[in-house]
Amino acid sequence: MLLKDDARPLSGDQQINSSCRQVRQKASIPTGGTRLGAGLITESRKLNTHMATSVPQLDGTFTVDVEDYFHVSAFASVIRPENWDHYVCRVEQSTRTILELAAKHSTRGTFFILGWVADRYPQLVREIQSAGHEIGCHSYWHQLIYELGPQRFRSDLIKARDCLQWITGSPVKLHRAPSFSITEKSLWALDILIEEGFQIDSSIYPVHHDRYGIPGSPTSPHIIATRIGQIHEFPGMTCKVAGMTIPVGGGGYLRLFPWAVTSRLLHQIRKQQRPLNVYLHPWEVDVDQPRIAASLKSRFRHYQNLKTMAPKLSRMLTEFRLGAMTDVLVKLWSGHNDVVVDRTEMSSDMMVASN
Ligand SMILES: [Zn+2]
Repeated sequence: MLLKDDARPLSGDQQINSSCRQVRQKASIPTGGTRLGAGLITESRKLNTHMATSVPQLDGTFTVDVEDYFHVSAFASVIRPENWDHYVCRVEQSTRTILELAAKHSTRGTFFILGWVADRYPQLVREIQSAGHEIGCHSYWHQLIYELGPQRFRSDLIKARDCLQWITGSPVKLHRAPSFSITEKSLWALDILIEEGFQIDSSIYPVHHDRYGIPGSPTSPHIIATRIGQIHEFPGMTCKVAGMTIPVGGGGYLRLFPWAVTSRLLHQIRKQQRPLNVYLHPWEVDVDQPRIAASLKSRFRHYQNLKTMAPKLSRMLTEFRLGAMTDVLVKLWSGHNDVVVDRTEMSSDMMVASN
């Protein structure tokens, strides 16, 4: 499903009375052009000096992709974005459930927020921010990047980023693509992220999957060098089972596996001195959400074991020390060598091929 227009892709969009959209042009927030490398950590230390010194060694990240049940890619074939406004939003309450859980366990997280949600619920973004969490961008219209193409991706990204920056008053430098949709077909997105001032991405899953994944790419955080600059990549979490690299510990995988299995695999990752990268969605703790008539596979992926998610998260936050993505990277890169993956030629080729 492709967007019809770059800046205002949907007719329903214009009906939204959003204060964010009306005045965001007045905001003066520096963006774009930052070249990094080790510079990210220097900057992160400045931003998070108190965290870097006061937080004990973290086992990994606690990340939330803030979207509602009708935004997901699994239902994209039956729910078009122009009809999103017809669905009852439940994202405020379900996000607050996660905020309460994080507060109970004194856990700071990274919340990758959908621009569509931020535009309609700016107070929710402020609640997340005032609770001490880190804000990242999860696109505006939750479209798969490799289906958008470079121009539409940039336009959607800017729309979401500017909305979040206007609400928070702070630069947004972390990004996670809808459905981890930076793949071999959309590596050009890394160049655009760098050009638009993003410093950390968490959109590459080093697994085989029908919708996403770059099998064989690094399973630990690393720096990707493109023809434009560099960006830190915090990949989706995986472990090796019977010689196979499998996803673990986030979203549907967290719901699907019994906690005893997930726990054992996460401890295995810790022993390998790789940081965890836990992710979830607010709708995954919303047991009473409306049921959407979709394919059996989509319904299985979305609804399986919903009721187990909240208890599993409690056990997760009791058993492991999780934190915001920047805090984990600050700790990780203190005294460690950076792993740089050179994608300069590949991203350049892809950019040419896509334009
Ligand atoms: Zn998403």
